Amino acid sequence: MIMKSELIIIGGGIVGLYSAYFLAEKGFNDILILEKSYLGSGSTFRCATGIRASFTTEEHIVLLKESINLWKKLSRELGFYYEQGGYIWLFRNEEQLKAFTEFSKLHNKFGVPTRIISVDEIVEKVPMINTEGLVGGLFDPIAGKASPFQAVFSLENALKDKGVKIRTLTRVKKIIAENGRIKGVETDSGTFEADKVLIAAGYGSRELAKTINVDLPLNNVPHHALVTEKFKEAFKPLLIDWTYSAYIVQVQHGNFLMGMDIEEKPQQPLYQRVDFIPKMARVATRLFPWMRNVNVLRYWTGYYVMSPDRHPIIGPVEEVDGLYIATGFSGHGFMMAPIAGEVVSEWIVDGKPKYRVAENLTLRRIKEGKFIHEKAVFG
Ligand SMILES: Cc1cc2nc3c(=O)[nH]c(=O)nc-3n(C[C@H](O)[C@H](O)[C@H](O)COP(=O)(O)OP(=O)(O)OC[C@H]3O[C@@H](n4cnc5c(N)ncnc54)[C@H](O)[C@@H]3O)c2cc1C
Repeated sequence: MIMKSELIIIGGGIVGLYSAYFLAEKGFNDILILEKSYLGSGSTFRCATGIRASFTTEEHIVLLKESINLWKKLSRELGFYYEQGGYIWLFRNEEQLKAFTEFSKLHNKFGVPTRIISVDEIVEKVPMINTEGLVGGLFDPIAGKASPFQAVFSLENALKDKGVKIRTLTRVKKIIAENGRIKGVETDSGTFEADKVLIAAGYGSRELAKTINVDLPLNNVPHHALVTEKFKEAFKPLLIDWTYSAYIVQVQHGNFLMGMDIEEKPQQPLYQRVDFIPKMARVATRLFPWMRNVNVLRYWTGYYVMSPDRHPIIGPVEEVDGLYIATGFSGHGFMMAPIAGEVVSEWIVDGKPKYRVAENLTLRRIKEGKFIHEKAVFG
């Protein structure tokens, strides 16, 4: 039997789930989510939980500011962990400080109240830090963190209540279109029909789009992170050591989660590397010498799905009627998922997003070479 739905969402990560949520909120709930493994199994459950609006383009700042409002509202309504503990960007030279002084002006212009702080103020907020080599920081008070696990499970329950169908362990092999119109998808357990398909398949998106001759210039780049045993609260903000493109955050139950950029080639399988832990430990113990005695519990890798300008691709694909995309989040798709989901729902139901800047994020900008470069990506 062939099943028919109004919309098929490929991918049960945070972006697919939030997209379904906002569509269902608008009364559009004849939706089938197809996930090849289990919900959250892609990048979502491997992320560092961070949520911020301190970016370097109007598109990111405006949309992420609204995403933060949505995280706040939905964590209350759906009942999952979210905390507005802030971010501190740490700088080790005047050049970094100067660049972020300019970025801070841009944040403030769009209503994100970041400010440059002194080393003394860093110590006030993070008393156990070793400040040797630091020249100052940028404090982002509205940034925060949420549990990806609780967010996914709460969304799953909410979606089931709204009548959205979710099928895990179902891999989409091919998207089907006829005469430029979407017809459905072919999976490893049969064909599913729909007039609309949303590709929200993270690292699987490029391959899927290829099956319908749409080129998504995305690179899946492995990123590494580890988590330690848990401690009582040592500091609230997520810390970024900009020199090392590294971060440390104390997550919900008190464990320190940390990661940093190490050289990786795109499209490589996800391997753990013996050099990651010592590199990470050097950065962590430079900031917190006492971390030398802290045990690592787990180490994992996951993909950043990188677009050419570090902004996601969200919206309709003009060449194929009924095809939509929400992917290429370039390492910040967890934080962006609520607003991405809302924008997807507006494209599908209203034909246009409410935020003008969201119109700049469709695939068209890439085809026309109208890149909007983001400079504040790390990890
Ligand atoms: C180490 C690390 C740290 C990070 N830290 C942060 C952070 O602090 N803040 C932040 O905002 N972001 C962070 N990110 C990025 C974030 O995890 C991603 O941007 C986000 O999870 C993307 O969500 P998604 O739903 O698009 O993709 P995914 O979570 O990858 O979901 C896509 C789903 O599609 C499924 N799928 C793929 N192909 C198919 C197919 N053919 N058929 C059916 N299903 C398919 C996959 O199984 C997967 O479950 C981090 C990433 C990593 C790796």
